[in-house]
Amino acid sequence: MTDPGHALITITQRPATVFVEGHGAWLIDEQGKRHVDLVQGWAVNSLGHSPALITQALLAQSQRLLNPSPAYYNRPLLDLAARLVQLSAFDRVFLASSGAEANEGAVKLARRWGSRHRNGAHEIIGFEHAFHGRTLAMMSASGKPGWDAIYTPMPGGFTKARLNDIASVERALTPRTVAVMIEFVQGEAGVVVAEPGFVRELRALTAERGVLLIADEVQTGVGRCGTAFAYEQYGIEPDVMTLAKGLGGGVPLAALLCKEAFNCFEPGDQGGTFAGNPLMAAVGLAVVDEVCRPAFLAGVRARAEQLSAGLQAIAREFDLVGERGMGLLRALVLPTDVAADVVAAAQALEPVGLLLNAPRPHLIRLMPALNISAAEMDEGLALIRQALRIVLA
Ligand SMILES: *Cc1c(COP(=O)(O)O)cnc(C)c1O
Repeated sequence: MTDPGHALITITQRPATVFVEGHGAWLIDEQGKRHVDLVQGWAVNSLGHSPALITQALLAQSQRLLNPSPAYYNRPLLDLAARLVQLSAFDRVFLASSGAEANEGAVKLARRWGSRHRNGAHEIIGFEHAFHGRTLAMMSASGKPGWDAIYTPMPGGFTKARLNDIASVERALTPRTVAVMIEFVQGEAGVVVAEPGFVRELRALTAERGVLLIADEVQTGVGRCGTAFAYEQYGIEPDVMTLAKGLGGGVPLAALLCKEAFNCFEPGDQGGTFAGNPLMAAVGLAVVDEVCRPAFLAGVRARAEQLSAGLQAIAREFDLVGERGMGLLRALVLPTDVAADVVAAAQALEPVGLLLNAPRPHLIRLMPALNISAAEMDEGLALIRQALRIVLA
């Protein structure tokens, strides 16, 4: 078979399958084969594939107003910002198009605040194995092994501590530190959950030292963890938060949120051609209105319990290490580095395939649509069993 990607710049290995259609929990390839999709664009499609809510928002907004220019207000931009403020602990919103862009904005905002109020403090403490995006500065902010060496020289001003180790944060703090940037669940690192005690200590420490706490909720936010935002489950409030992935439910949309005290950009400091465009904002508003309803979030928690219990049963049955996660962001931990084989075996299952993601060699990450049905979840769990049976046989 000729490589379907022959005209693309090579960036990663992909299966030869070409996907043409998606509905809810299902993704269908060019051969007409159906797959249960537990990847959902890496926790992006909060309402599954092509939900009517999003296609209708896209159609209605595109017929009305596509792009008045970022120099002017538009209604969906204002409405989405107001809705996010109402739902969260934050007062101000900047809309962007990707998680990396929102995180860059968070770093810029922190540095701006540091130059004004903290005598030029500018260093950002991140965490080992963290993932904050793929711009050069976000590669510096991330803690992925090797990422400091691929594209040297890298932007400076980023240091690292260890997640769940408050002493390591204290050691990394200097008079130049302006912010600590954290994922409450390190997704790319393998769904590593920050401990409640650690997060509370981190909040107290940063407040005491006059250092901002930036929550990267690009993956954990907008219902993924069973609450509107993951920080709610820690009983703390960050100073700055970023959202992307699930916020757009499949379209490129991101947000930077801050408390009023940190609303310190001067006109012209921050912007973007597509920042706050009404087409994406209208989708975000539809997604947030649906996902952040209490009844919807209760459904996410019910499906999360089902998934967690199902994965625990699988771990016992196959003598695996176990499962972990928060809400519908979970991982199944394997005893050996066979995750890639499990992913391949799952997709190859007949007549129905299963799409899984392996961010680490020994670990499968599960990120189903937040509105997956109980029956579809059971079907997914049964397919995971089939794939494990093939690989571990
Ligand atoms: C995916 C991700 C990003 C990067 O988002 P992009 O939209 O790919 O730029 C940043 N932070 C976290 C925690 C993510 O999961």
